[in-house]
Amino acid sequence: MIRIVIVGAAGRMGRHLITNIMKSSDLKLAGAVEYAASPFLGQDAGVVAGMGESGVKITADLKEAVKNADSIIDFSTGNVIENATVAAAAGLSIVVGTTGLKPEEKDALAKLAANGARILLAPNMSVGVNLLFHLAKQVTEILGTDYDVEIVEMHHNQKKDAPSGTAVRLAEIIAKARDLSYEKDVMHGREGLVGARKKNEIGMHAVRGGDVVGDHTVIFAINGERVELTHKASSRDTFANGALRASRFLATAKPGIYDMQDVLGLK
Ligand code: NAD
Repeated sequence: MIRIVIVGAAGRMGRHLITNIMKSSDLKLAGAVEYAASPFLGQDAGVVAGMGESGVKITADLKEAVKNADSIIDFSTGNVIENATVAAAAGLSIVVGTTGLKPEEKDALAKLAANGARILLAPNMSVGVNLLFHLAKQVTEILGTDYDVEIVEMHHNQKKDAPSGTAVRLAEIIAKARDLSYEKDVMHGREGLVGARKKNEIGMHAVRGGDVVGDHTVIFAINGERVELTHKASSRDTFANGALRASRFLATAKPGIYDMQDVLGLK
C-alpha cells in the first residue's frame, strides 16, 4: 500500500487524484494540503472531491501531513521547491505535475535528486501523450526528411496559452529528430501570401473551442499518402492516472530525477 499526500488537494487535478486514489486498491490517501488561506482547510478531502468521507482533513501543514506517508503528488500552484524539500527531508518520493517551472526551479529539483531525493517531473502525465512523444520521434526517423510535418492541437475555449506545452514538446522532438530548430523552423499558423510551404517547415496550429480537454495530431504528408498520429484526452483522469502510475514507479526507484518516459520504459 502506497500512502500518498496530495498537494493542491482542492484544485481540479487534486480532486481527480483523490477520487482515483480512493477508487484504487493499492493506494491510500494519507494527507491533503492546500494554501494557508484556503476556504477548504479542515474539510474532508474525499467530500471535497465528491467521493464521500476519506477520514483525511485538508491542512496547510505539509510537514505534519507527510508524517505517515510514502509519497507526495504535487499539482498545486504553490511552491514546488519548498514541497520537494519537505519530501526529501522526510524520505518521501515526490511526483511534480505543476507546470511552468523556471529553469532555476528545475535545477533546484535536480540538486535535491543528486542528494538522494526521488523526484518525477512531467508537464504532461498522460500515458497516451508520452507514447505519442515516443511514436512521433520514431515515425519522423522512419519517414525521413521528405514528409511535410504539421501539428494541430485543440483545447477548450478557456485555455490561455497557445500552442499548448504538449504541442511545443512534439515540435521540439520532431525538430531534433530532423536536425531542425524550433525557433527557426516552426511556422505558427498561416495567413496571407505566405508562399509555398518550405520543405523543412513544421506547421503549428492551435484550435480553440468548447470543453475539449486536449487533442493533438501530428500529420506527416507526402505526394500520395499521409500518416497521422492522434491523441485525444477526454478527461483529466488521464493526467491523474499517469501521476499515480508515476508514484508507483518511484516507490521502487533509486534516487534521481525521472520523467514519464522512464515510467513507461521508453528510454
Ligand atoms: P487549480 O488551480 O484547479 O488547482 C491548483 C490548486 O493548488 C488550488 O486548489 C490552489 O488553492 C492550490 N494551491 C495554491 N498554492 C498552494 C500552496 N502553497 N500549497 C498548497 N496548495 C496550493 O489547477 P489545476 O488545473 O488543478 O492544475 C494545477 C497545476 O497542474 C497547474 O500547474 C497545471 O498546469 C498543472 N497540470 C499538469 C498536468 C500534467 O499532466 N502534468 C495536467 C493538468 C494540469
